[in-house]
Amino acid sequence: MQLTHLVINGFKSFADKTEIDFVPGLTGIVGPNGSGKSNITEAIRWTLGEQSAKSLRGEKMGDVIFAGTATRPPLNRAEVLMTFDNQDGYLKEQPATVTVCRRLYRDGESEFLINNQQVRLKDIVDLFMDSGLGKESFSFISQGRVEAIFNSKPEDRRGILEEAAGVFKYKQQKLKAEHELQTTDDNLARVSDIVSELQ
Ligand code: ATP
Repeated sequence: MQLTHLVINGFKSFADKTEIDFVPGLTGIVGPNGSGKSNITEAIRWTLGEQSAKSLRGEKMGDVIFAGTATRPPLNRAEVLMTFDNQDGYLKEQPATVTVCRRLYRDGESEFLINNQQVRLKDIVDLFMDSGLGKESFSFISQGRVEAIFNSKPEDRRGILEEAAGVFKYKQQKLKAEHELQTTDDNLARVSDIVSELQ
Protein backbone atom coordinates (compact mmCIF):
# COMPACT_ATOMS: atom_id res chain seq x y z
CA MET A 1 0.00 0.00 0.00
CA GLN A 2 1.35 3.40 -0.89
CA LEU A 3 -0.05 6.90 -0.70
CA THR A 4 0.24 8.07 -4.30
CA HIS A 5 -1.81 11.24 -4.55
CA LEU A 6 -3.14 13.94 -2.26
CA VAL A 7 -5.66 16.66 -3.07
CA ILE A 8 -6.12 19.48 -0.57
CA ASN A 9 -8.87 22.01 -1.19
CA GLY A 10 -9.87 24.69 1.31
CA PHE A 11 -7.94 23.05 4.18
CA LYS A 12 -6.03 25.55 6.35
CA SER A 13 -3.66 27.63 4.16
CA PHE A 14 -4.60 25.67 1.00
CA ALA A 15 -7.36 27.92 -0.32
CA ASP A 16 -6.81 26.70 -3.88
CA LYS A 17 -7.05 23.08 -4.92
CA THR A 18 -3.53 21.69 -4.47
CA GLU A 19 -2.43 18.29 -5.73
CA ILE A 20 0.68 16.38 -4.65
CA ASP A 21 1.95 13.24 -6.38
CA PHE A 22 3.94 11.01 -4.04
CA VAL A 23 6.16 9.63 -6.78
CA PRO A 24 8.91 7.08 -5.99
CA GLY A 25 11.98 8.90 -4.70
CA LEU A 26 10.09 11.72 -2.99
CA THR A 27 11.56 11.92 0.50
CA GLY A 28 10.75 15.40 1.71
CA ILE A 29 8.82 18.60 1.25
CA VAL A 30 10.69 21.84 1.81
CA GLY A 31 9.52 25.42 2.00
CA PRO A 32 9.86 28.67 3.97
CA ASN A 33 8.50 28.95 7.49
CA GLY A 34 4.73 29.19 7.50
CA SER A 35 4.37 27.99 3.91
CA GLY A 36 2.14 25.05 4.89
CA LYS A 37 4.42 21.99 5.27
CA SER A 38 2.87 20.95 8.58
CA ASN A 39 -0.59 21.68 7.16
CA ILE A 40 0.04 18.91 4.60
CA THR A 41 0.69 16.28 7.29
CA GLU A 42 -2.30 17.60 9.24
CA ALA A 43 -4.48 17.26 6.14
CA ILE A 44 -3.42 13.61 5.94
CA ARG A 45 -4.02 12.95 9.66
CA TRP A 46 -7.39 14.71 9.46
CA THR A 47 -8.48 12.53 6.54
CA LEU A 48 -7.40 9.40 8.42
CA GLY A 49 -9.86 10.34 11.16
CA GLU A 50 -8.25 12.84 13.53
CA GLN A 51 -10.97 14.15 15.84
CA SER A 52 -8.97 16.43 18.08
CA ALA A 53 -8.96 20.03 16.85
CA LYS A 54 -6.17 20.80 19.35
CA SER A 55 -3.85 18.22 17.84
CA LEU A 56 -4.43 20.02 14.53
CA ARG A 57 -3.40 23.27 16.25
CA GLY A 58 -6.94 24.63 16.31
CA GLU A 59 -9.58 25.43 18.89
CA LYS A 60 -12.50 23.84 17.08
CA MET A 61 -12.67 21.57 14.05
CA GLY A 62 -13.98 24.42 11.87
CA ASP A 63 -10.55 26.04 12.20
CA VAL A 64 -9.24 23.65 9.54
CA ILE A 65 -11.34 25.46 6.92
CA PHE A 66 -9.46 28.24 5.09
CA ALA A 67 -10.11 31.29 7.27
CA GLY A 68 -9.37 33.96 4.65
CA THR A 69 -6.60 36.50 4.29
CA ALA A 70 -6.44 40.25 3.76
CA THR A 71 -7.03 39.64 0.07
CA ARG A 72 -9.22 36.51 0.06
CA PRO A 73 -12.52 35.78 1.76
CA PRO A 74 -12.87 32.66 3.94
CA LEU A 75 -14.11 29.45 2.35
CA ASN A 76 -17.07 27.36 3.47
CA ARG A 77 -15.63 23.92 2.94
CA ALA A 78 -12.43 21.96 3.53
CA GLU A 79 -11.83 18.83 1.49
CA VAL A 80 -8.93 16.39 1.42
CA LEU A 81 -8.73 13.36 -0.84
CA MET A 82 -6.08 10.66 -0.52
CA THR A 83 -5.40 7.99 -3.14
CA PHE A 84 -3.60 4.76 -2.26
CA ASP A 85 -2.07 2.16 -4.51
CA ASN A 86 -3.36 -1.07 -2.96
CA GLN A 87 -2.18 -3.53 -5.59
CA ASP A 88 -0.46 -5.56 -2.87
CA GLY A 89 -3.86 -6.03 -1.18
CA TYR A 90 -2.52 -4.57 2.07
CA LEU A 91 -5.90 -2.96 2.74
CA LYS A 92 -8.08 -6.06 2.93
CA GLU A 93 -11.20 -6.39 0.76
CA GLN A 94 -10.39 -3.19 -1.11
CA PRO A 95 -9.72 -2.57 -4.82
CA ALA A 96 -6.26 -1.97 -6.33
CA THR A 97 -6.77 1.79 -5.98
CA VAL A 98 -8.39 3.11 -2.81
CA THR A 99 -9.56 6.69 -2.31
CA VAL A 100 -10.46 8.21 1.03
CA CYS A 101 -12.06 11.64 1.32
CA ARG A 102 -13.12 13.86 4.19
CA ARG A 103 -15.11 17.10 3.90
CA LEU A 104 -16.16 19.60 6.50
CA TYR A 105 -18.60 22.48 5.95
CA ARG A 106 -18.76 25.64 8.01
CA ASP A 107 -22.20 24.71 9.33
CA GLY A 108 -20.53 21.68 10.97
CA GLU A 109 -21.72 19.06 8.49
CA SER A 110 -19.15 16.36 7.67
CA GLU A 111 -18.78 13.85 4.88
CA PHE A 112 -16.57 10.77 4.74
CA LEU A 113 -16.08 8.72 1.61
CA ILE A 114 -14.23 5.53 0.74
CA ASN A 115 -14.03 4.94 -3.02
CA ASN A 116 -16.68 7.65 -3.52
CA GLN A 117 -19.17 5.85 -1.27
CA GLN A 118 -20.47 7.71 1.80
CA VAL A 119 -19.24 6.01 4.97
CA ARG A 120 -18.91 6.77 8.69
CA LEU A 121 -15.75 8.16 10.26
CA LYS A 122 -15.44 4.82 12.06
CA ASP A 123 -15.21 3.00 8.70
CA ILE A 124 -12.16 5.08 7.75
CA VAL A 125 -10.56 4.53 11.17
CA ASP A 126 -11.24 0.77 10.90
CA LEU A 127 -9.83 0.64 7.37
CA PHE A 128 -6.44 1.90 8.52
CA MET A 129 -6.34 0.22 11.92
CA ASP A 130 -3.20 -1.95 12.18
CA SER A 131 -2.01 -0.69 8.79
CA GLY A 132 0.64 1.46 10.47
CA LEU A 133 -1.05 4.53 9.01
CA GLY A 134 -3.74 5.14 11.62
CA LYS A 135 -4.06 8.63 13.03
CA GLU A 136 -2.27 7.60 16.24
CA SER A 137 0.45 5.62 14.50
CA PHE A 138 4.11 6.50 14.52
CA SER A 139 4.00 7.22 10.82
CA PHE A 140 3.40 10.78 12.03
CA ILE A 141 5.72 12.30 14.60
CA SER A 142 5.16 15.99 15.15
CA GLN A 143 7.90 18.37 16.25
CA GLY A 144 6.69 18.48 19.87
CA ARG A 145 6.33 14.70 19.99
CA VAL A 146 10.04 14.13 19.27
CA GLU A 147 10.88 16.19 22.36
CA ALA A 148 8.29 14.35 24.43
CA ILE A 149 9.80 10.99 23.43
CA PHE A 150 13.32 12.10 24.41
CA ASN A 151 12.11 13.46 27.75
CA SER A 152 9.90 10.50 28.65
CA LYS A 153 10.70 7.98 31.39
CA PRO A 154 12.58 4.84 30.20
CA GLU A 155 9.54 2.59 30.72
CA ASP A 156 7.29 5.01 28.77
CA ARG A 157 9.88 5.20 26.01
CA ARG A 158 9.97 1.41 25.89
CA GLY A 159 6.18 1.44 25.42
CA ILE A 160 6.54 3.86 22.52
CA LEU A 161 9.22 1.68 20.87
CA GLU A 162 7.12 -1.44 21.40
CA GLU A 163 4.13 0.22 19.82
CA ALA A 164 6.24 1.39 16.86
CA ALA A 165 7.64 -2.14 16.44
CA GLY A 166 4.11 -3.58 16.49
CA VAL A 167 4.79 -5.51 19.74
CA PHE A 168 2.28 -3.56 21.83
CA LYS A 169 -0.77 -5.14 20.20
CA TYR A 170 0.59 -8.67 20.96
CA LYS A 171 1.33 -7.71 24.56
CA GLN A 172 -2.29 -6.60 24.92
CA GLN A 173 -3.46 -9.91 23.43
CA LYS A 174 -1.13 -11.82 25.79
CA LEU A 175 -2.54 -9.96 28.81
CA LYS A 176 -6.08 -10.75 27.65
CA ALA A 177 -5.22 -14.44 27.15
CA GLU A 178 -3.57 -14.61 30.61
CA HIS A 179 -6.68 -13.06 32.14
CA GLU A 180 -8.91 -15.62 30.40
CA LEU A 181 -6.63 -18.48 31.58
CA GLN A 182 -6.88 -17.18 35.15
CA THR A 183 -10.68 -17.01 34.90
CA THR A 184 -10.76 -20.57 33.52
CA ASP A 185 -8.49 -21.78 36.37
CA ASP A 186 -10.84 -20.16 38.91
CA ASN A 187 -13.85 -21.82 37.26
CA LEU A 188 -12.08 -25.21 37.28
CA ALA A 189 -11.26 -24.82 40.98
CA ARG A 190 -14.92 -24.02 41.68
CA VAL A 191 -16.09 -27.07 39.71
CA SER A 192 -13.67 -29.38 41.56
CA ASP A 193 -14.94 -27.94 44.90
CA ILE A 194 -18.51 -28.78 43.87
CA VAL A 195 -17.45 -32.28 42.71
CA SER A 196 -15.73 -32.95 46.09
CA GLU A 197 -18.84 -31.71 47.96
CA LEU A 198 -21.04 -34.07 45.96
CA GLN A 199 -18.81 -37.14 46.51
P1 ATP B 1 7.34 25.93 9.81
O1 ATP B 1 8.46 25.66 8.84
O2 ATP B 1 7.51 27.24 10.53
O3 ATP B 1 7.04 24.78 10.74
P2 ATP B 1 5.20 25.23 7.97
O4 ATP B 1 5.69 25.30 6.55
O5 ATP B 1 5.08 23.87 8.56
O6 ATP B 1 6.02 26.20 8.90
P3 ATP B 1 2.42 25.50 8.61
O7 ATP B 1 2.55 25.49 10.09
O8 ATP B 1 1.97 24.25 7.92
O9 ATP B 1 3.79 25.98 7.98
O10 ATP B 1 1.46 26.65 8.12
C1 ATP B 1 1.18 27.76 8.91
C2 ATP B 1 0.37 28.73 8.09
O11 ATP B 1 -0.92 28.20 7.86
C3 ATP B 1 0.21 30.03 8.84
O12 ATP B 1 0.53 31.08 7.93
C4 ATP B 1 -1.24 30.09 9.17
O13 ATP B 1 -1.78 31.39 9.14
C5 ATP B 1 -1.85 29.25 8.06
N1 ATP B 1 -3.14 28.71 8.46
C6 ATP B 1 -3.42 27.82 9.45
N2 ATP B 1 -4.76 27.60 9.54
C7 ATP B 1 -5.32 28.34 8.57
C8 ATP B 1 -6.67 28.55 8.14
N3 ATP B 1 -7.71 27.92 8.72
N4 ATP B 1 -6.88 29.42 7.13
C9 ATP B 1 -5.87 30.06 6.53
N5 ATP B 1 -4.58 29.89 6.86
C10 ATP B 1 -4.30 29.06 7.88
